[in-house]
Amino acid sequence: MSQAKYHFASDNTSGICPEAWQALDEANQGFQPSYGDDEITRAACESFRQFFETDCDVYFVFNGTAANSLSLASLCNSYNSIITAHEAHVETDECGAPEFFSHGAKLLTAKSPLGKLDVADVERLITHRTDIHYPKPAAVSLSQSTELGTVYTHAELQAVTSLAHRKGLSVHMDGARFFNALASAKCAPADLTWRAGVDVLCCGGTKLGMAVTEAVVFFRRDLGEAFAYRCKQAGQLCSKMRFISAQWLQLLRDDTWRKHAEQGNRLARLVAEKMTALPGVELLYPVDANHCFLKLPDAIKERLKAKGWVFYSFIGGGSRFMCSWRVTEDDVNALAADAA
Ligand SMILES: *Cc1c(COP(=O)(O)O)cnc(C)c1O
Repeated sequence: MSQAKYHFASDNTSGICPEAWQALDEANQGFQPSYGDDEITRAACESFRQFFETDCDVYFVFNGTAANSLSLASLCNSYNSIITAHEAHVETDECGAPEFFSHGAKLLTAKSPLGKLDVADVERLITHRTDIHYPKPAAVSLSQSTELGTVYTHAELQAVTSLAHRKGLSVHMDGARFFNALASAKCAPADLTWRAGVDVLCCGGTKLGMAVTEAVVFFRRDLGEAFAYRCKQAGQLCSKMRFISAQWLQLLRDDTWRKHAEQGNRLARLVAEKMTALPGVELLYPVDANHCFLKLPDAIKERLKAKGWVFYSFIGGGSRFMCSWRVTEDDVNALAADAA
């Protein structure tokens, strides 16, 4: 057994990208007000407003579970339900945090071919019961990019969000890999969010290459009115906030986010190309973002494991290969050579 290689295990096995690291260093000067009352944080929030071309409210938390569950709690009462996909992170990987922070709102899962919510099934979940015994649907949560590595188009988002809004539900987007989706969709950030009907976005920083940060962006600002209190109560208000905001400021500047997101997306496509050239290997889902899901013959799986490659098979059935900003073409070639 060779030394373990975590390159493709997830996009959070890599370190901190040089721009974020430099931002941390530059912010490490003198004294600044704490708890976000500083100039860097103000500038970072302003750069989000410019990025999304709208007057949104922005909050920074430490991780995606907090971002998702606290923002969903803002959209729900304890007797409500949240409609999401079967494989959604909020459903499968947050230890019940959305239910916990909303004091009991129930997640209802809709059909989700290729990881995308099926509009008709969402409608069924909203309308098939209206009696007092059924938790009243209040929000739809979708992931962009999805857990299966696909990306909703503007039109696909519109189809979900217009239904939700017509029925009085609000729309949450889990954007742990939002920047990969955005780089892939090649449209304006606004077109993939509020102009497509998204009310609140959890915008992933960690998987993009930053240290411990996700941004919660309320496009419908009324929904986030008490959000600062939720963050503080949940232990998610960073006292040295400037170290979080400095990273965002830097990554949103000069399209730095795009460079890292495109790198991950491009290399995931290369993994697909190189690996499907091997006999018996099948691509399971389109590679829209930085994930590549493969059906591997057992012999290849064993060979890769024996050479130390770590990869997971818990989502979607196949073997998942994630590409972060840090993965290089050489890494992909080494993986493919070991598989051959
Ligand atoms: C990684 C991830 C998150 C965030 O998870 P944390 O470990 O809590 O930061 C949220 N949603 C999706 C789809 C993810 O892949």
